[in-house]
Amino acid sequence: NTSLHELDPEIAAAVDAELHRQQSTLEMIASENFAPLAVMEAQGSVLTNKYAEGYPGRRYYGGCEHVDVAEQIAIDRIKELFGAEYANVQPHSGASANQAALFALAQPGDTILGLDLAHGGHLTHGMRLNFSGKQFDVVAYHVDAETGLVDMAEVERLAKEHRPKVIIAGWSAYPRQLDFAEFRRIADETEAHLWVDMAHFAGLVAAGLHPNPVPYADVVTSTTHKTLGGPRGGIILAKKDFAKKLNSSVFPGFQGGPLEHVIAAKAVSFKVAASEEFKERQRRTVDGARILAERLTAADAREAGVNVLSGGTDVHLILVDLRASELDGQQAEDRLHEVGITVNRNAVPNDPRPPMVTSGLRIGTPALATRGFTAEDFAEVADVIAETLKPSYDAEALKARVKALADKHPLYPGLNK
Ligand code: PLP
Repeated sequence: NTSLHELDPEIAAAVDAELHRQQSTLEMIASENFAPLAVMEAQGSVLTNKYAEGYPGRRYYGGCEHVDVAEQIAIDRIKELFGAEYANVQPHSGASANQAALFALAQPGDTILGLDLAHGGHLTHGMRLNFSGKQFDVVAYHVDAETGLVDMAEVERLAKEHRPKVIIAGWSAYPRQLDFAEFRRIADETEAHLWVDMAHFAGLVAAGLHPNPVPYADVVTSTTHKTLGGPRGGIILAKKDFAKKLNSSVFPGFQGGPLEHVIAAKAVSFKVAASEEFKERQRRTVDGARILAERLTAADAREAGVNVLSGGTDVHLILVDLRASELDGQQAEDRLHEVGITVNRNAVPNDPRPPMVTSGLRIGTPALATRGFTAEDFAEVADVIAETLKPSYDAEALKARVKALADKHPLYPGLNK
């Protein structure tokens, strides 16, 4: 019964320091969010102790009657939320969900077609050093250099030329919506499976602010911790026909015992995601990104060499283009960090700089929207960012403005000792 602070003060100190960092800075990494206390309570519960290999009602261990209830609720809620025929809530992460999905749809050596990592795709969509790139024959599509939009003509041309087993639609860094109907048409014409990875925009879909890929795709994967706002983890949704293959691909294919504490936390977050409050939060998320895009395409930002890829956004993030700026991606990330704003540097398409440096930033609004930021607050954040990226900037004044915003919207106040 010893507390964490008593048993392990070193780890407790790291946790406390991380709480302070989250509370006192502005978190704008597009893939991050703040899980509700109830989600963390479920995740920190006794369910962490339970082995439950198998699926609800068909387990390889005794004593699963209560975790069965929690897992079945998670499955039912996520199916309802996205209108899916099948759901698997066991993947430990987004990458695990993607691995299980890909191996259910294709065999090693088959061809897959996905968005190039350097153009906004994810590692698991065919990157050279990832399982997807090592075990599959990868063909990549790109965004158009002028418009910044996915080049659907190229997708069609490559699909017809290479006849991939799987076409992957989804992204980690792209500010617009994909045309799922067009992907479906191309997949049908080339007899490919269509897999959509909605990890980034799942929360927007749940809120009705983004087209739902579920009616179009054979398989849809997602993380649960980005816009969806739950615990770290993955899910797979699919048409009924793929249920058996997907279940056995997750377990026993790639995973052993499911993390029932995380699954319970996922269930809680799916309940939240069906609420009006969640929809309102997603609206502020998208509005905030639009406000950022407007501000960072204004005349004074352009004069400082700052621009926004594709000229704006339809989602929860913007991609800042620094090719004309004297700052590279690393320097811009460091400067924003100095004033208390956390973002990540990001390659722009055809980036002249190496991947560890880059010429861009990815800036997202989900975490601040969860914190309660309004349009007015996002306008102030956008101004602070624009000022910070100018050739000369007043770090102390900008830090004070960041602090005022953080103080205005306290995060997890109940967790302070
Ligand atoms: N898919 C996409 C589109 C992502 O952006 C990410 C995370 O960055 C993942 C999958 C992987 O998720 P995880 O980090 O949970 O493995």
